[in-house]
This record gives sequence, structure tokens and C-alpha cells, in this order.
Amino acid sequence: MIEETDYENRIVSPEYTENDTETDVSLRPKTLSEYVGQTKVKDALSIYIRAAKQRKESLDHCLLYGPPGLGKTTLAGIIAKEMGTNLRVTSGPAIEKQGDLLAILTSLNEGDVLFIDEIHRLSRNIEEVLYPAMEDFSLDIILGKGPSARSIRLDVPHFTLVGATTRSGQLTAPLRDRFGVLLRLELYTPEQLGQIVMRSSKIMGIETDLEGALEIASRSRGTPRIANRLLRRVRDIAQVDFDGRITEAVAREALKRFEIDELGLDDFDRKMLSIIIKNYGGGPVGVETLAAALGEEAVTIEDVYEPYLIQIGFINRTPRGRCVTALAYEHLGIIPPNNSLQQTLI
Ligand code: ADP
Repeated sequence: MIEETDYENRIVSPEYTENDTETDVSLRPKTLSEYVGQTKVKDALSIYIRAAKQRKESLDHCLLYGPPGLGKTTLAGIIAKEMGTNLRVTSGPAIEKQGDLLAILTSLNEGDVLFIDEIHRLSRNIEEVLYPAMEDFSLDIILGKGPSARSIRLDVPHFTLVGATTRSGQLTAPLRDRFGVLLRLELYTPEQLGQIVMRSSKIMGIETDLEGALEIASRSRGTPRIANRLLRRVRDIAQVDFDGRITEAVAREALKRFEIDELGLDDFDRKMLSIIIKNYGGGPVGVETLAAALGEEAVTIEDVYEPYLIQIGFINRTPRGRCVTALAYEHLGIIPPNNSLQQTLI
């Protein structure tokens, strides 16, 4: 077991935290053209939106999938805005009873966008309410119990369901099949995150130069939410200890104080990598075993921590478990055993 770490408050956590609240709303792009990166997703959406508007119909139901913090909620808002309708936001865990969902669906207006975050966490009996609503824009309501029970059919307005999930594989097949549009969001490149940092600096009135923005971007693990959070934290240091401007040197100094290295790895990542190296000879180690050693849930490791380490080539996912690569050994300053070095050289 490793010593306790405050995972919830990791500065590089891609998940939403209470501290993100105030500025997050104003930083959200409102239109597709303001939305940085994700070209494939934007191109596809802009065609579907134009076509639906020409036909004066609501947009097909869309499923957005990808790691947290990449802009799924933001996209749902953009879809509503571009379609000229309203956005309603809820999440899988927030809908506890069938009645909760019935109340939401019956209060929608024609064309509204209903965003359900973490849609894979809806329970089966709630999903069943959603099927006819998605397919025929109707609800089957059972009144009464036993032999006297009867079912009535209610119409709901034509709405667009935008579902978000960290992995589309977590969704039940009947639910997944009812989405007309499936869109996968990718981690962002440092250049794209640099643009986001410059844009956010402008909105927040911070003087940031391009090098400073890129320094923050390259440590943001491909995730806009982290980039914006690091920007806010670096701003504090720039203001208190420097002249308020964010340059490369200021960003470097601030991020060093937060113990976030040049690749955006923090203490947690380094612990995870060194546990695989020291306790499991560099892997393969099963994700459940790793999760137990780290005191975390396996899904959190898979959805939140691992995607970035895989993207930068520090971890390989093999059928037998996770393996650390020679690149990661090098980054940690540990000499890799001969066989893992050979694997990478081949
Ligand atoms: P998710 O729903 O996938 O967890 P959000 O939509 O809440 O992510 O995005 C997190 C933050 O990142 C938002 O507040 C927004 O400011 C920023 N953001 C996300 N995607 C983009 C983008 N493509 N361009 C600019 N900012 C973005």
C-alpha cells in the first residue's frame, strides 16, 4: 500500500471539482467555431446540424464519448445554441426513479436538447422509459397495479438526447443502438491546449504570452479542464510573486511548485508507475491488482488516470495487464531491465 494521497483534489484531475465552478461557465465556448480542436467531431456535427435545420427537424440523438474534461458538456450546449433551442442538463446518477425522468421529459419543449452526463450509470428500468421516448417520442405509463393496471401512451416533444460517457462500451446495446450519431472525443494536442489557454487568458483578463501558454498546455494531459485549472493556479503565483504576466519562466516556476513535471505527471502518476516497476517487475499487472495497491477503483484508473499515460506511451495495455514502457523508466530515471528495453527497441 502507498501512503494516502488526496486523489479528489489532484490539481491534474480531469474531473470536475467545486473549485472549477465560477470561471468554468464563462470559459465555455458557445459556438462550434469557438470550440478548439476535435475537427472530425465538429465537421460531422456541423453537417448534421445544418441538415436538421434545413429539414426543420430536431437533431438525431448523439452519444459523445471520451475521457472526462474534454468538452462533452460544452458540446451539448453548443448543439442547443446552434439549433436555437434550450439545453437541459442532468446525469445518470441524478435520475433515481422512473418518475424523475418522466418529469424531465414531459417538461421539455419542442427541439430541446437533453444532456445526460454519465449516461452509462442509468439503471435498467429507467433506460426502459427512455427507449420509446428516443424512438417514437412517446411514453408508456402504467397506471394502477395488478389486474386493474392499464397503460396509457403520452406524447413528448421532439427532443435531442445528448448522452455522455467515458466509454461507449459501458453502455447497454439497446441504449447505444438508439443513438443516431456516435462521436468520440480525443485528447487534445499541446498546440490546441495552448490556443485554449490563450483564449481563456483573454476572457479572464490575464496577460499570457504564447510560450507561457504552451508551457501550461504541455503539462495539461491533453485535457482542457486541466489546462484552465492550471492557468488559474499559475495566475495566482504570477500575481503574488511576479508582475502578474504569465511567461514561460513564470509558468515553469509555478508548475514546479505544484510538483507537476514537464509532461504533466504528478505524484500519483509517478507512484503508479513506480509501483508497477517495483512491485510487479514493470508488468504485466492486472488493473484490479493495481487498483487495490493504489487504493483506487479500477474504473477510475482506466477512465481517468490511464488514458494520458497510454497516450504518451508510458503504459501499454496488454491482454495480460498493464506494462510500463522503457520511456517511462527513462522519465523516472530508473534503468529498465534488459527485456523491456529490447521490446521498445524492436
Ligand atoms: P466534459 O463534459 O467532457 O467533462 P466540459 O465540457 O465540462 O467537459 O469541459 C471542461 C472545460 O474545458 C469547459 O469549462 C471548457 O471551458 C473547456 N473546454 C472543453 N473543450 C473545449 C474546447 N474544445 N475549446 C475550448 N475550451 C474547451
